[in-house]
Formats: sequence, structure tokens, C-alpha cells
Amino acid sequence: MAPCFGEIWTAPGEKPYLVGYRCQGCGAAYIGEGRVGCSKCTSTQPLKEIKLSERGSLYVYSIVHQSVPGVPVPYVSAIVDLPEGVSVRCNLVDIEPDPAKIKFGMPVEMITRKIRERKEKNAEGAEETIEIIAFFFKPSQN
Ligand SMILES: [Zn+2]
Repeated sequence: MAPCFGEIWTAPGEKPYLVGYRCQGCGAAYIGEGRVGCSKCTSTQPLKEIKLSERGSLYVYSIVHQSVPGVPVPYVSAIVDLPEGVSVRCNLVDIEPDPAKIKFGMPVEMITRKIRERKEKNAEGAEETIEIIAFFFKPSQN
């Protein structure tokens, strides 16, 4: 599975979603933790955590033919625009890595997939398998 970056929130019984942050001064939205203020209006009020839409549109992409060992190529690296005004760096999946099949502005939706497992000891000392999931975007039907 190809690498993916960003942040995703999961809670038991709830569909995973991307977490964003909204400026309470001007309403600008961001993705990524650790922001101390708004770069649009310079407000330093704490940003409010928001749930980002799972549907967006493909802004730009690149077909990656060479990567680090262990990462299967080719894969499609993309930036997806969400209605909140946030751009998300991700990989586009479930589509042929062929420029004839990928359209700028095409509707896409977020999915998550397990990318690996990790064994961890829980509080009682028993070994647990932790699933590591990552988000991707795939072409959407509507
Ligand atoms: Zn702002």
C-alpha cells in the first residue's frame, strides 16, 4: 500500500473522518494539528476542531513511477479540495494510473484501509493487535 499523510479520527462504531480546524475569527479551515493562529486573518484564538467532508474534488495529481523500496508503483498522488476550503494531500486509489482515466475536478470520496498491523501490550500486559489505517480518496459515483 502506498504511503499517505494527514489525520484521521476514528471512534468505535463511527465512520472514520478527517479532522480539520476552523478559525473562529474568519471561518477559514485548515488540516493538520499544531497551528497556533490563522494565517488568513492573523487571529490567535484557539481553532475549533471540525469534521471535514468525505467528498471533494480532484484538484491535481501526479502518477508516481518510482518510490522507496517496498512501495508498489505506479500509484496516484493527489491533492483533493474539500468543500470546507481545505486541500488534502492523499493518494487516489481504485483508478487506473492512466492520465486518460483521471480528470481534474472529478468527484472523489474518502475511504480508509488497513495498511498494516502492530502488536502492542495493553494495560493488563496481554498482547493486542492494533490495526493501522490510512485514508485514501477514490472516484465517486456522483
Ligand atoms: Zn481567521
